[in-house]
Amino acid sequence: MAAPQGAHYGKVARNEDILRVWGIIPQNPSLLFPISPQRPAAVWTPRHPIGTDKDMTNDLEALQREVRSFLAAEAPTGWRDASRTQDDFVRTQRDWFGKLVRAGYAIPHWPAEYPGGGRSLAEQKVIYEELAGADCPRLLLSFVSTYHAFATLHECGNAEQKARYLPKILEGETWCQGFSEPGAGSDLAAIKTRAELQSRPDGDVYVINGQKVWSTMAQFADKCLLLARTSSDGVKQAGITYLLMDMKAPGVTVRPIHQIQGDEEFAEIFLDNVEIPASERVGEEGKGWAVAQATLASERGLTLMELSYRMRGALGRVAKLIRDHGHTEDRGVLRDFGVLVTQVDAVCAIADQFLDNRINGIERMGDASIVKNAYSRALRAYSALGLRLGGMDEQYVAPITFGDLNTGNWMADFMNSYAWTIAGGSEEVQRGIIAERMLDMPREPKGWVL
Ligand SMILES: Cc1cc2nc3c(=O)[nH]c(=O)nc-3n(C[C@H](O)[C@H](O)[C@H](O)COP(=O)(O)OP(=O)(O)OC[C@H]3O[C@@H](n4cnc5c(N)ncnc54)[C@H](O)[C@@H]3O)c2cc1C
Repeated sequence: MAAPQGAHYGKVARNEDILRVWGIIPQNPSLLFPISPQRPAAVWTPRHPIGTDKDMTNDLEALQREVRSFLAAEAPTGWRDASRTQDDFVRTQRDWFGKLVRAGYAIPHWPAEYPGGGRSLAEQKVIYEELAGADCPRLLLSFVSTYHAFATLHECGNAEQKARYLPKILEGETWCQGFSEPGAGSDLAAIKTRAELQSRPDGDVYVINGQKVWSTMAQFADKCLLLARTSSDGVKQAGITYLLMDMKAPGVTVRPIHQIQGDEEFAEIFLDNVEIPASERVGEEGKGWAVAQATLASERGLTLMELSYRMRGALGRVAKLIRDHGHTEDRGVLRDFGVLVTQVDAVCAIADQFLDNRINGIERMGDASIVKNAYSRALRAYSALGLRLGGMDEQYVAPITFGDLNTGNWMADFMNSYAWTIAGGSEEVQRGIIAERMLDMPREPKGWVL
């Protein structure tokens, strides 16, 4: 079969190209082999390290210089040691977010009317890669705010909600996501948390009772994107309403979940007669399922573009392990690194295509699922190779720093990589969506029991 032609094709991918750009030079020339001699053409075009991308325009190069000069002065150092306790973690995250907001690099995906917004996709990618290449921490405390809350309010919020909340996010207001419940994760539409509309002298309120679980960083959040049931009539999806909840409201109890590796990344949220003004509803009552799709699409699309480019920027950490641990003549390691680099590049290309399509108004059911699964698989491969190359040093229990791919502890990164096969919809469920909605395979029978 003829090799496909196009922008991404036409160059034989050689381990030599990949290794050179990552500064790995084996003495033995037989180790510089084509990755796949059977294939006449392959997808990889050498673009690393950051800054050697032949497709970069002058404008992008200028942006890159600007980001680099900012990072040379401001990139946090020692943030891992300074994030060992929860209080320190919150402080370092808030400091770094504030600096990025002021520099104009915190929200490149927002519209141009916000400071630092209005960046093209190509510009966003430069920023994400540079941040990862400079070993900066990911904005774990604020990603629900800058991605999920932003996407929801931007696409479905009314003018007053946008004007009230989006600027506050830039001032540091943090959001969490209250979707999942015990018994309603993959089957999100099965949520049982109730919202009952009641009249009060100063306006209608929804009175909320129920429980949420797995809410990332809810213990630090000011606001919550909440799904609640306003009706049990008809199909499950039809009775769901989307609300913006104040986490300090009376009746909200947050209980962090202590995890096996020592941190508390998630929390349960208990809701006991919590009152939310009806003006805090996003979209119409009973139409929250459609609004939730905006949140989930952001989680499975936009967020993953940042993460994919961050992983690309962080490949240098694996290359460093190869050099530092004397693996530069190890054929198996060099092969695995070459495969990893191409896998990460492929994820970036898939995420690019997804976002290009979205910008052009093209989105098929299942597209976001492909990005999600491609990312979580590459993340597992990335952290598994790092763990393997790190040797015994990486096997020890170390104090936890929150993170996903650059905690500085490969064992923690490896364990975290599995979280990504569940977060935002499990890998199996995404595969079900791809099979049924994209490949037109038979629908999973509903309501069956083993
Ligand atoms: C790191 C992380 C962060 C998260 N953050 C948040 C958050 O901030 N807010 C929030 O609301 N939730 C959050 N979640 C929850 C997440 O959305 C759910 O864990 C996820 O949707 C799966 O639901 P569940 O845990 O109830 O598992 P279940 O739905 O009970 O699934 C259990 C197992 O059964 C499989 N399974 C279920 N249904 C099917 C099917 N139809 N076909 C094949 N296999 C199936 C699943 O793949 C899984 O392996 C987070 C989860 C993680 C891991």
